[in-house]
Amino acid sequence: MMTTRRNFLYLLGVGTTATYIGIPDSSWAAPATTAAKTNVFSLPPLTYDYNALEPHIAAATMKFHHDKHHAAYVKNLNTAVNKYPQLKTKTVEELLTNLDKLPKDIQTTVRNNGGGHLNHTMYWQIMAPKAGGKPTGAIATAIKTQFGSFDTFKSQFNEAGTKLFGSGWVWLVRQKSGKLKIITTSNQDNPISQGLYPIMGNDVWEHAYYLTYQNRRPDFLAAWWNVINWSEVDRRFNKSLTA
Ligand code: MN
Repeated sequence: MMTTRRNFLYLLGVGTTATYIGIPDSSWAAPATTAAKTNVFSLPPLTYDYNALEPHIAAATMKFHHDKHHAAYVKNLNTAVNKYPQLKTKTVEELLTNLDKLPKDIQTTVRNNGGGHLNHTMYWQIMAPKAGGKPTGAIATAIKTQFGSFDTFKSQFNEAGTKLFGSGWVWLVRQKSGKLKIITTSNQDNPISQGLYPIMGNDVWEHAYYLTYQNRRPDFLAAWWNVINWSEVDRRFNKSLTA
């Protein structure tokens, strides 16, 4: 098909449009070496039981959220990347930080489903059974410095999550300046596409809470702090310092 061929040439930088000329990272145009049908992304298993976060997050929510929603993002991302095997050497982070370099016909799919994959991979890790409480380590100090207190941070985060209209995520991110900031994104957009480092984020799509909380998103946001795995959040924060 002409469209496919044009996109392919576009990606290789042999088109006439300036956008793709002079991309410094030549690996974007690397020859296809991986078989077209081999999926490169996979659903990471949950490291705890579906019911491990009860009563704050119901087992049924965890099961559908991980096994159906996250699995669908992975499947759709693989389908998109399988069309362009030269992208198979890229991590999902690389794809999401270079969305405008991707072939036009898969940009939206990768944005939504690559974002969905990366967001949920983090999400399962920053939650844990018998967790919650107050932050520890360097992230605790950074939150206190930036927001005055943990309680102030928590209430600003909950407020941002409550006010987000429609489906999306509320995040604590690290800006390039080093400052922490609370932001929201729509759909499955990940902050790395805006040059921000995601330290932690809560999923405020209805699928994340509706079975237990129905329309009461603020109640879900408030309960979520009981399952935060602060050592993983602290690990992410420390990693952001060297990113
Ligand atoms: Mn979700």
